[in-house]
Amino acid sequence: MNIRVAIPPQFTQEREYILEVFFRHYLGLSYTVEYLPEGSEPCWIIRMDDGPEIVVEDHFFSRIPQGRDYREASRIPTTVVRAKLPMTPEEDIPVVYGRPFLEVGAPSVRCGVDIFSSAFFMLSRWEETVLPDRDDYQRFPGSSSVAYKQGFLLRPIVNEYLELLKNMLRSVAPAIQFKKHTFQQRVSCDVDLLRYNHLRKIAGAIIKYRSFKKLKKSLENLRRWKNPLEENMFFIAKLNEGLGQRVEFNIIPLSTGPHDEPINYRSASKRKLLSQLAERGHLIGFHPGFNTSDNPELFAQSVARYRQILENIHYPFSDVGGRQHFLKWSHEITPQLWEAHGFSYDSTLGYADRAGFRCGTCWPFPVFDIFRKKTLRLMEVPLIVMEYTVIKYENLEYSAEALSRFFYLKSVTKKYDGVFTFLWHNSHFETEKDFEFYEAILKA
Ligand SMILES: [Zn+2]
Repeated sequence: MNIRVAIPPQFTQEREYILEVFFRHYLGLSYTVEYLPEGSEPCWIIRMDDGPEIVVEDHFFSRIPQGRDYREASRIPTTVVRAKLPMTPEEDIPVVYGRPFLEVGAPSVRCGVDIFSSAFFMLSRWEETVLPDRDDYQRFPGSSSVAYKQGFLLRPIVNEYLELLKNMLRSVAPAIQFKKHTFQQRVSCDVDLLRYNHLRKIAGAIIKYRSFKKLKKSLENLRRWKNPLEENMFFIAKLNEGLGQRVEFNIIPLSTGPHDEPINYRSASKRKLLSQLAERGHLIGFHPGFNTSDNPELFAQSVARYRQILENIHYPFSDVGGRQHFLKWSHEITPQLWEAHGFSYDSTLGYADRAGFRCGTCWPFPVFDIFRKKTLRLMEVPLIVMEYTVIKYENLEYSAEALSRFFYLKSVTKKYDGVFTFLWHNSHFETEKDFEFYEAILKA
């Protein structure tokens, strides 16, 4: 089948990027792009070889005056309506850009929801570059996002748009076949802390917690001269091995400031630790320190050290990736750094303060550099949920509600055959509840 997509001739890099994600990466369809003549009605027109077409109205890029950029705070939608339309996978669909309209005629379809500009809004995260909101760690807070404010952060709306597109394509070309995706659980453990101070733990059990149970456990650790932070890594490894999964253990190769614990991975004991995990089939990922996200020099130093650590344990630097420590991210600088240093993927993009679909999708996608108008080779594997977010920032602690938040996110990801990227730190196994939660979420 010959598919041609006609687009207006402005913002062509942005438009072609989102078409590439939808058609090639997500649907596995080949297609060609052509430009509509100046003065045509602003639409994205999908033409099938034998005649029928799908018209998706353009409610965004065509409205930007010539010579202006689309990245302006005034262009961020303030209300996102939920449209009840045929062909959508859920009861309604959030309309970031567009109008609640869908007409299925014969042989053509007309869609008022600008699914492409709306998906571009979610994937590129350009709103985060025009709003000044930042938290104490200079991160864009999830609570400031349109998705959170308009109540759809817990929905992978890009996947919903994709389902709508698939249904529209099927209606005009019933024999069309799409690429198959299968649900995947992607478990990671960011190794922020690895030093264990027995005396401090014993003192903490007595003075801070006044807990006999904690004291007994600390004394037992001391007697066996065991480091629970390392033991937790083996607990994680073993449990996941039992489920036939490998874990991404992301390490901080170099301390870049007070938020990074200095861990000497070149020491014999740490080399042994990493070797053991690697031999068991787990991944040793990159977790650059707090100050690297906007500092090319510190990032480069961290990469050099990381490569050295891998070399020491004969672990190849190929197809490697990881996540920024503290989820620190600068859209202008960080993805460029990951790309330039040869990483295949990053998995930073989830909000620290709110769980859900920061990029609107549960599928990996190539990163678009909005500043240089260029598609990168770097793939983003969006982070769906980390333990701190639900337990601490959302303040759900170890409630039934907390557990159902994890389960919910996993089941939605399953529904859309996505990648459930789940982060739980080796330093977050303080109580029995942590072990219980961890196991329950993995096995859900
Ligand atoms: Zn970290």
